[in-house]
Amino acid sequence: RMNYRHAFHAGNHADVLKHLTVLALCDALTAKPTPIFALDTHAGRGLYALDSNSAQRTGEAQGGIGRLVAEAPADPLVQRYLQAVRACRNEHGAAAYPGSPWLLAHALREQDRIAACELHPEEAGQLKANFAREPRVAVHERDGYAAMKAMLPPRIGAVKFARGLVLVDPPYEAQLDEFDAIIGGLRDGLTRWPQGIFAVWYPIKLRRALQPFFRRAATLPAKSSLVAELMVREDDSPLRMNGSGMLVVNPPWQLDQQLKPALAKVANVLAETAGASARVEWLKTER
Ligand code: SAM
Repeated sequence: RMNYRHAFHAGNHADVLKHLTVLALCDALTAKPTPIFALDTHAGRGLYALDSNSAQRTGEAQGGIGRLVAEAPADPLVQRYLQAVRACRNEHGAAAYPGSPWLLAHALREQDRIAACELHPEEAGQLKANFAREPRVAVHERDGYAAMKAMLPPRIGAVKFARGLVLVDPPYEAQLDEFDAIIGGLRDGLTRWPQGIFAVWYPIKLRRALQPFFRRAATLPAKSSLVAELMVREDDSPLRMNGSGMLVVNPPWQLDQQLKPALAKVANVLAETAGASARVEWLKTER
């Protein structure tokens, strides 16, 4: 039973946080010439049209990428993200918005490879069509959590990838099971590929409901992990998504220093109430 369609939510405040973070991770990884492998476990269709019926119905993008483009706050990471969105629009039209596979393909290089998993047949079909002429992107219509076992450590032919990124961006349709699957997937993934960067998106309604997830995340076999959160409202209502976060396991050097000022500016621009805020904190640090 899969009802979630990302087309309703593309370009909202959650996508802004997620995609800013993904670009910061790609840029850190590509600072060295060795090939990068990126696994996108819940990839969606890769490209969205914000003038589609689905997007117009919720209007969520207007409060996200719409406002950010209009205000364009001065910050290197925010500008880098806006530049990527502009590149997407130059290619696909003014109403286009990039999904995570598109951003990975944009930010990574010739020598890098991307595996994008998507379980919904229609979304997977669109994803395949969108990247049919992009040999660096392999689309797999399969369960993203199973892929974290089967596809790690990454290896394509004779090439082993020492460095790279796993993005876990599930729909949270059945909230409780999703956190179990995430922690299980991360534990497997980190055991198989200890040097990989693992980034997980999570929604925030009522903050204290997330405590068990953070406690379990802190016990994962990794030296360090960081959480970066963007709230557009107070985090005190269980009834709606007030913001969201990225858990980054094995974050690259100085990711926190890049995200802090960027998210503070984004929170300012995307605030729905005076309770809007940004937070970047270590869940676990190297000692
Ligand atoms: N990561 C995308 C982006 O940033 O553009 C958005 C992904 S959307 C939040 C979640 C996607 O996961 C949906 O397209 C849904 O069909 C898909 N999905 C749901 N369960 C899945 C599973 N077990 N494995 C892979 N994909 C799944």
